[in-house]
Amino acid sequence: MTITSRFAPSPTGRLHVGNIRTALHNRMLAKKAGGKFLLRIDDTDAERSREEYVDTIRADLAWLGLEPDGEERQSQRLAIYEAAFEALKDAGRVYPAYETAQELELKRKVQLGRGLPPIYDRTALAMSDAERSAKEAKGAVPHWRFKLDHDQPIAWDDGVRGAQKFDPAQLSDPVIRRADGSWLYMLPSAVDDLDMGVTDVLRGEDHVSNTAVQIQMFTALIAAQYPTQQMPRFAHEALLIGREGKLSKRLGSLGCDAFREQGIEPQAVIALLARLGTSLPVEPIADRQVLLETFDLSTFGRAPARFDDAELERINAALVHQLDFAEVAHRLPEGMDEAGWHAIRPNLSHVGEASEWWRLVTGPIDSPEFSDEDRLYLGEAAKALSWSEDPWQDLIAALKERTGRKGKQLFLPLRQALTGMDHGPDMGELLPLIGEERARERLDAAAAL
Ligand code: GLU
Repeated sequence: MTITSRFAPSPTGRLHVGNIRTALHNRMLAKKAGGKFLLRIDDTDAERSREEYVDTIRADLAWLGLEPDGEERQSQRLAIYEAAFEALKDAGRVYPAYETAQELELKRKVQLGRGLPPIYDRTALAMSDAERSAKEAKGAVPHWRFKLDHDQPIAWDDGVRGAQKFDPAQLSDPVIRRADGSWLYMLPSAVDDLDMGVTDVLRGEDHVSNTAVQIQMFTALIAAQYPTQQMPRFAHEALLIGREGKLSKRLGSLGCDAFREQGIEPQAVIALLARLGTSLPVEPIADRQVLLETFDLSTFGRAPARFDDAELERINAALVHQLDFAEVAHRLPEGMDEAGWHAIRPNLSHVGEASEWWRLVTGPIDSPEFSDEDRLYLGEAAKALSWSEDPWQDLIAALKERTGRKGKQLFLPLRQALTGMDHGPDMGELLPLIGEERARERLDAAAAL
């Protein structure tokens, strides 16, 4: 059986790091098996859904290299939900309810006050036809609940959490449709998973209790409407927490635009999130195939996964050091060639810093003040400078011999005079890029200060 997975964001905001992780894992789950990864836009909530977020979701997935194999939108599938709803109604699995939000809230308060779980008491289910007609004659418009079968225990083998069990009598019959006819999340999602042949539902553990309820929906829908389809497998991954160890507000708004602004490469986000919360080591792995081959739900832990910006920065820097010139050429300062990239790359934490370092080559540079002794030494260096295959090695060898200097005394004034800095890229690589003319000018200028 081939795998079809889906990522189902609601377009009510930008994707945040938790969503991105879910999207990534769903894609990996499918791709590892040569299957399909679908993007399903959950936009049944017309009031809160925004077209601009649909666009940013697509753009973010593209930036991350997580393009889906297909896209569906719930707002275009309303007729399918209507048909499923009718089928469930005929099967006696949905019923109208007339309580107002205030009435429901009051019931909850009373139950909680008595120390009882706030489970819906099924008053509406117990109503007679005459009572319903009387309500509607007075203008009441019902919302609709899915009727859980209390005799059908709920159990599944979760891909991350193992064996799960729920007693349906301990759950409220979920509201699936509002009085205005609009859909809540529960039913359309289950209908879509069946209708689109989704084999694996992988999502955050905040959905565990939804799964419990949806399992009965799946069973009822398969019986009533989708006899050839099968219940998907379920897996719920532990949530992401911030470094402080709490469900952090900041993580809820941290997304691709922030990563881009910080100069984080998409591949760093992928390498971190692919393995965060698993028993596999988080490493700066640039090759997605390697990440894919080692992806395995059985390595996922049940404890919350800790997202740490510093770890993302470390992975980013390590990946920048591996980037090939061809991959970054379009983002580099003018004139910077492959040799320039190679010289400078080890000093970068972000690709965007390349232009700061490239200025050491193109100038102008700020030369520090030198002691009289160093100025004499640099004058000597200007004279000794000769252009060859390896001008730096030749310069060092000549100066060692002429001045007897060694170590820091030999190297540091040269680096300072040639780059204006105490540290930086390998001088053997940098000096040929600076070139003979500029090198001589800088040495002369330093000697004359
Ligand atoms: N739109 C739902 C959400 O964003 C989808 C959950 C699911 O994966 O079924 O939470």
